Amino acid sequence: MRPLPFDKAKLDEIAAKWPTPFHIYDARAIRENAKRLKKAFSWNKGFREYFAVKATPNPHLMKLLKEFGFGSDCSSMAELELAERVGNTGDLIMFTSNDTPAEEFRRAWDLGAVINLDDTTHWDFLYEAIPSFAAKVREETDRRIFCCRYNPGPLKGGNAIIGKPEEAKYGFTREQAVECYAKMKEAGVTRFGLHTMVASNELDPEYIIDTARMLFSLAASIHDATGVDFEFVNIGGGIGIPYKPGQKAMDFQYLSDGIRRAYAEDVEKAGMKGLKLYMECGRCITGPYGYLVSRVRHIKNTYRLYAGLDACMSNLMRPGMYGAYHEIVVPGKENSATTSVYDVTGSLCENNDKFAVQRLLPVLERGDYVVICDAGAHGHSMGFQYNGKLRSAELLLEEDGSVREIRRAETLDDYFATLDFTGI
Ligand SMILES: *Cc1c(COP(=O)(O)O)cnc(C)c1O
Repeated sequence: MRPLPFDKAKLDEIAAKWPTPFHIYDARAIRENAKRLKKAFSWNKGFREYFAVKATPNPHLMKLLKEFGFGSDCSSMAELELAERVGNTGDLIMFTSNDTPAEEFRRAWDLGAVINLDDTTHWDFLYEAIPSFAAKVREETDRRIFCCRYNPGPLKGGNAIIGKPEEAKYGFTREQAVECYAKMKEAGVTRFGLHTMVASNELDPEYIIDTARMLFSLAASIHDATGVDFEFVNIGGGIGIPYKPGQKAMDFQYLSDGIRRAYAEDVEKAGMKGLKLYMECGRCITGPYGYLVSRVRHIKNTYRLYAGLDACMSNLMRPGMYGAYHEIVVPGKENSATTSVYDVTGSLCENNDKFAVQRLLPVLERGDYVVICDAGAHGHSMGFQYNGKLRSAELLLEEDGSVREIRRAETLDDYFATLDFTGI
């Protein structure tokens, strides 16, 4: 079973203060991982990771990542606000949105964010969205950075979660990107980036290296076509994590070495020296270092054996939504033989509310802790209130072993706060 940064005795201590279910994040492991990523890419002057806020939108975690110079990849008003509140403004925000409302472009503009357009019509939309846009662009050429999100279509193979690029709603075709960069240049823009996001939960480093190579050569060809000089390419997020036993974590050093070789061949030879490499990962930054801690509430033996937890799909919807696999650890029974097969369920009135299906585990009893691993990204943040379920607390396990609440659990009052019973 997977080693955990806490044991049963520690959980007893924590749960006495914060009843299960809760999410808990391992600060030490997140820092070590951030350090590893930064070190691997230190050859690229100006390398930056923009943490994808949607993965774990908690200001305490964002602040922790800011220690390593990580910016914020935002795609909504709330995420922009979170970035600002942790002190990430200006080019520390990558605004990678789609189907974007005018007020969000305005807010991103006011914060000085890098504006990463999702479509060729969005450049014209900015003239409507932002007052005196044309004049401001000309006045502020030194600090305004624009980027286009490239969608390679059939040129790039698919990926299980994000799907085939040509079926994805995101991004520009190459021709549209060329046209848009020319238009932006004409309007007075001088600072440019190029972006793509074609992977999700990808564990093959070659796929990510190929993506970087694709962007390097595209940047060179767009430069040739338009005269635009690129400051950065952003290879997006999508680096996977080993959810399943036997899978191998992405080796950041191997990935970096591969990208560095592509950089030497495609960037330096094309004379684009100084091109910065950006990424906007979420999952591989915090995913493996967050845990959903719950307890067995009921054991039920019908056509199958069911372990019903006090957590449900509203705390972690990946298994129910994608059939995703998450490892399960039973603290206190780490060394017990795995002799029983369970469906591990929550309490939603939906039969896909299962954290595991037909999983071999130690014999479970009421009150046992059940820890669901790899819940540190796209976990709590995907939560919802269907069936009147409340979102759980988020805790941070500090390096000195102390535990801090970084988001309280929702209460029934929170649930009822948006309802108006007048006239009922
Ligand atoms: C979701 C998303 C990310 C982060 O993806 P991960 O799989 O968490 O790395 C980055 N950029 C964009 C545009 C996204 O939509």
